Amino acid sequence: MKNLWNDDAAEKLVADYAKKGVGRDLALRVYTTRLLGGVPQLVLHGGGNTSCKIKATDLVGDEWDVLCVKGSGWDMAVIEPQGLPAVKMGALLKARKLDRLSDEDMVALQRANLIDPASPNPSVETLLHAFLPHKFVDHTHSTAILAIVDQEDSKPLVAKVFGAKMGYVPYIMPGFDLAKAAADVFDADPAVEGLILDKHGIFTFGDDARQAYDRMIHYVNVAEDYVAKHAKPKAAKAALPARLASPAVIAPMLRGAVAAPRGEGRFDRMISDFRTSDAIVDFINSAEIADYAQRGVSTPDLSIRIKTGPMAVPAPDADKVGDYKAVIESHVDAFAKDYRAYFETNDALDDVKRTMLDPMPRLTLVPGLGMFGHGRTLKDAKIASDVGEMWIEAVRGAEAVGRFHPLSKADLFPLEYWSLEQAKLASNKPKPLTGQVVLITGGAGAIGAATAKLFADNGAHAVVVDLDAEKAADAARKAGNNSIGVGADITDPAQMRAAFDKAIAVFGGVDILVSNAGAAWEGRIGELDDALLRKSFELNFFAHQSAAQNAVRIMLEQGTGGALLFNTSKQAVNPGPKFGAYGVPKAATLFLSRQYALDYGAHGIRSNAVNADRIRSGLLTDAMIASRSGARGVSEKDYMSGNLLGQEVTAQDVAQAFLHHALADRTTADVTTVDGGNIAAALR
Ligand SMILES: [Zn+2]
Repeated sequence: MKNLWNDDAAEKLVADYAKKGVGRDLALRVYTTRLLGGVPQLVLHGGGNTSCKIKATDLVGDEWDVLCVKGSGWDMAVIEPQGLPAVKMGALLKARKLDRLSDEDMVALQRANLIDPASPNPSVETLLHAFLPHKFVDHTHSTAILAIVDQEDSKPLVAKVFGAKMGYVPYIMPGFDLAKAAADVFDADPAVEGLILDKHGIFTFGDDARQAYDRMIHYVNVAEDYVAKHAKPKAAKAALPARLASPAVIAPMLRGAVAAPRGEGRFDRMISDFRTSDAIVDFINSAEIADYAQRGVSTPDLSIRIKTGPMAVPAPDADKVGDYKAVIESHVDAFAKDYRAYFETNDALDDVKRTMLDPMPRLTLVPGLGMFGHGRTLKDAKIASDVGEMWIEAVRGAEAVGRFHPLSKADLFPLEYWSLEQAKLASNKPKPLTGQVVLITGGAGAIGAATAKLFADNGAHAVVVDLDAEKAADAARKAGNNSIGVGADITDPAQMRAAFDKAIAVFGGVDILVSNAGAAWEGRIGELDDALLRKSFELNFFAHQSAAQNAVRIMLEQGTGGALLFNTSKQAVNPGPKFGAYGVPKAATLFLSRQYALDYGAHGIRSNAVNADRIRSGLLTDAMIASRSGARGVSEKDYMSGNLLGQEVTAQDVAQAFLHHALADRTTADVTTVDGGNIAAALR
């Protein structure tokens, strides 16, 4: 572990913050907090915190001794002074005399003593920081430290590795009891430079920011050196099939298997983030991997991300890929069954009312390939993968010096179901399309871009496919929610396939297709150039068929149903003069939509069409509107609102119709007309 302290950088930050009225101590607290937070082997997604003890003045000018401690929700790597809320020390210190303090009361006490009531909640480890006398206190869940403490009998090993200058605190869940126990260990020997917390992590402290930081890096290096010098030979490797199936082949099966059924054909789906490297694969290929995974998480707060630990599945044999779906499903069923038993056994131990979280795995280890992080959003899926990488580091180290023996699942349970965490989850309501992936062709056009934005606003991740890659990327960026753009000529089956492969590579699969791309060619049907009609069929019919075929292939692998949505246009039911080249393939596409509804309804795959007309878009440009309205002798406004409602219909209205069909999960083989009312084009 490299010591990243740099005098120039530290002094520059001090000078910059001085201009904003932030004192030297707090500025340096920010500086080393960022240094620690930027290294995943030390701090990962909330697994660590820091503090400093300074003076602060309140609104009426009174000066207080305060603890500035990391606030919840702040990422240490990019923390600002306001991410270290100031809590009055007097009240915190008095709390040490109490016999007990509930988690809710602890939070209330901390909030009641904030200098700024608008601050985020101070860390759950605030009292531990307060009870230690040092001005600066640093805390991390270093993977090297975890290699030493995740052992069955870690106390003698901790003494051997770190010597007398580090205190040893047995495992206690974070909160009031741990804070008191840690303070007692310190009081027994105030000469220690830090504390090793069994099955949890490390605290170091000092009189200034640099001393506390230097000690953190020093003791992490002591642990790293010990692991390197005492490593026994690695466990044997498992035998792998001669030919492995690719991640793209198994991703949809896996994504389907980890979707939580809500009953009656409905699912809470997840996004899958595939991650691999030589180091990941080397570790996952161990013959012992299923056993390691079963033992649990390397530090208890990881349970918030990957539950009781990863799920290991067998390596996928490319020659038996047809059987692999059942293999995955049996492993997911076993994981979920174990999780339910874990919940029921531990929940029964007291009278606390808890709601079981979904029992699905959040991290899947696949020998030969790598790992998949799963989450309700891409962000959560990536966090699960990040956690997986650090779990591997800690387990590798623990197995190198002994035997990985993390916290028992019984001790893990109170942390995963901590009332403070459960309250946070309850406030985190999913959106209607959270966990779903929508692929939109013609995604950079007016209707496609409006649809991508609306679906992303409703929780979906959009794959915006367009002939113009740059415009696709731009529409995806405007849609937000980590949507992606893909450039493709979708009349080329290989490029269409590549767009779906990209959706699998980034999100793990596809749940909704909006087959929207189209273009209009004019000419009287009897005199139409054959090549032109065939060209129109390529885009206005065959591209829809090829998109739907790809979507259905993936949806069947997932086994969680899906939605096919076709933009069929008014021309499919109400031909306009000289518009046959457009209308004939569109009519075929309307029929196509019904054929898919018929053939795949039994698999929960719904197929519906949206029949839109007179929308400002690439098909109906402002110049065309000007010329057509001019030819008819009406104003542009009257031309665009020439319908029963007398209102212009927009791309936004069409997007709403697609969204309706994505959500209407008992509707299939339907056509929704979005044209402001045109009785001649009304379906009967
Ligand atoms: Zn901690």
